[in-house]
This record gives sequence, structure tokens and C-alpha cells, in this order.
Amino acid sequence: MSLQDYKGVFVFVQQVDNKVSGVSFELLGKGKELAAALETEVTAVLLGYQVSGLCEELAKYGADKIITVDDKALEVYTTEPYTHAMAQVIEHYKPAIVLYGATAIGRDLAPRVSARVHTGLTADCTKLEIAEDTKEFRMTRPAFGGNIMATIICPEHRPQMATVRPGVMQKAKANESAKAVVENLSVDFAGRQNVEVLEVVKSVIDKMDIQDAKILVSGGRGMGCPDNFQLLRDLADALGGEVSASRACVDAGWAEKDIQVGQTGKTVRPNLYIACGISGAIQHLAGMEDSDVIIAINKDETAPIFEVADYGIVGDVTKILPLFTEKVKAAMA
Ligand code: FAD
Repeated sequence: MSLQDYKGVFVFVQQVDNKVSGVSFELLGKGKELAAALETEVTAVLLGYQVSGLCEELAKYGADKIITVDDKALEVYTTEPYTHAMAQVIEHYKPAIVLYGATAIGRDLAPRVSARVHTGLTADCTKLEIAEDTKEFRMTRPAFGGNIMATIICPEHRPQMATVRPGVMQKAKANESAKAVVENLSVDFAGRQNVEVLEVVKSVIDKMDIQDAKILVSGGRGMGCPDNFQLLRDLADALGGEVSASRACVDAGWAEKDIQVGQTGKTVRPNLYIACGISGAIQHLAGMEDSDVIIAINKDETAPIFEVADYGIVGDVTKILPLFTEKVKAAMA
């Protein structure tokens, strides 16, 4: 079988408790673009148990075709049966490209599948494109601590596989009338399930994920001390937003890892990102530079954050933030 016989762009659809994860819609949007450049289709691969109810939503967000593997063995994510199902789908349908979200599940699954089907995998891609002339699939990701962007190709094996972090790609606009062809692949899981999930314990989180926030007030080392994070919280509350942080603050123990923005944190794309006492290191910018509007507050007028900011305020955050919050409250009153 030659490489040319592999066709189509496949997206692994992550679902947990029969709810599709946001990154899968983002990948369907990107998959659609790649498929158009290759004059082919985008196919959603939906693994789970009693998941047929999710197909309509996948069609709305761009899937031309949906392949389901519906089996009790796939009710809760575990590595072995999911790897087996995904490898069976690949062996049966021979896709040219397969995309996964770089989530805890995607990061566990994709490398296993790549080893199983003997192909490569580019992790944590920030850009995916099809070369106009050669139609080669180009996967770009930060390398060497984010100091260079490396573009990786997979010329000798198929499928070409990549993981992409949530928030990096944009989900396509929903097309309410779109329909997709649904096909079920039956897979034999006998001997493929050596781990039994006895109980799933969920942690209760009462705050919003920073990736869902429309407004982020983000603090860096320039906040000076953890107590000054209250100034960020006050402004965020006045604006109806959330607080996020740079890695320097997370490393210092001033903020939870869960709210870190950047290459080793989360990628965010809010309507408004207010960077307070953040220098604008490349690894931080990688996680927020696609925000719609960026306001930077920094006492150093040469700080790199001002290069990506739409509005800049040069000054001391501890003085500016209370004034900013007052003005917002007055405007909202
Ligand atoms: P600093 O760089 O120390 O900047 C503090 C800023 O505050 C300065 O610009 C200063 O002028 C300003 N300032 C100081 N006092 C005041 C004041 N009173 N008022 C106003 N401004 C003031 N970083 C991330 O954020 N996210 C990541 O995911 C991430 N991943 C990384 C991955 C790798 C592999 C590596 C090597 C690094 C990574 N980093 C990441 C770290 C990154 O390189 C920077 O070190 C970090 O972003 C710096 O955080 P900062 O801007 O808060 O601190």
C-alpha cells in the first residue's frame, strides 16, 4: 500500500460523560480547513458507549463523516481499549491525517496509537497547514524552550498525526442544517481490557476555567507579592472576569498552576487580556497573544509585552490597578 492510498483528515473526538470536549470542536474547524486544502473530507472519530446522540453536534461543527465505535469497553477512558479502537479505525479507513487534543486523554492516547500503527506524532502543535505546492502536511510547534518554532513533517509514514492544545485553534461557526454520514465500526475488545475502573472521583471546582473567561486580569512577578493578587481579583470582579497569572507567579507559589497562561500553562483567547506586571516572555505570549484586546501595565516602558499590547500603561501596578477598578466601578454604577 502506498502513502497516496491514505486519504482524509480524521479528528479524535474526546468525550467525557457523553459530553464532547471543546478542543474536539476546535480541531474539527481546523480539520475542515486542512481537508479543503487537500480536496478531501473531515471525519470525526467518536469512541464511547451510547454516544450516538453526539453525532448531530459534530456535524454542526464541521464533520462530513462520523465513525463511531460504540462499546461498553469505551464507557470510561482507559488506555488499552481506546488505543485498540483508534488503531482499528486507522487500519480500517487509512486516513492521511489524524488530530488529537493535547489534553490528559489525548496525550495518553496519541503516542500509544502512533507506536501501534508505526507512524510519527508531533505533540503540542500551534500551527497546522498544508503546503500549497507539495500538499505536504506541516506541523509547527515551539522547540528549545519556545525560542524557536520547529516545522515538522512526516514524509515516510501514514497517518501523519498531531496533538493540539485546547484554545489554540478556533472552532468553526455552527451550521445548524449540516448533516454527516454516520458509520459504526464494530471492534472486538476481548483481551484488550486489563484495567478495571472501580470508581471515578471528581474534584469540585467552583471557579471558571480561564480558557472560558471573556475577560482575564493576569498578574506577573511585577505584582510584588501574593497579597497584591487581591488587586487583580478586585478589577476582575468589577469587570466580570477571572484572574490568571504568569509562570513566575505559579513557580513562586503566588498562584495555582491551573490559572497559568503560556506555553506550559493554558492557551487563552479572551475578548480582553489585562497583563499586569508581566514582562512578555515568548513563552507567556504563546498563550495569550491571540486575545482580541490586550492592555499591558508595566513600569518598564521597554518591556516586550508592549509590543503585543493594543493599549499600554507605563507605571506601578499597585497604584494603577486600584484607580482602574474605581473607574470601572464608577462606569458600571
Ligand atoms: P518577569 O519576567 O520577572 O517580569 C516582571 C515584569 O514586571 C517586568 O517587566 C517588570 O518591569 C514589571 N514590574 C515589576 N514591578 C512592577 C510594578 N510595581 N509595576 C508594574 N510593573 C512592574 N512563562 C509563562 O508565563 N507561562 C508559561 O507557560 C511559561 N512556560 C515556560 C516554558 C519554558 C520551557 C521556559 C524556559 C519558560 C517558560 N516560562 C513561562 C517563563 C518565561 O520565560 C518567563 O520567565 C516568565 O513568563 C516571566 O514571568 P513574569 O513576566 O511574571 O516575570
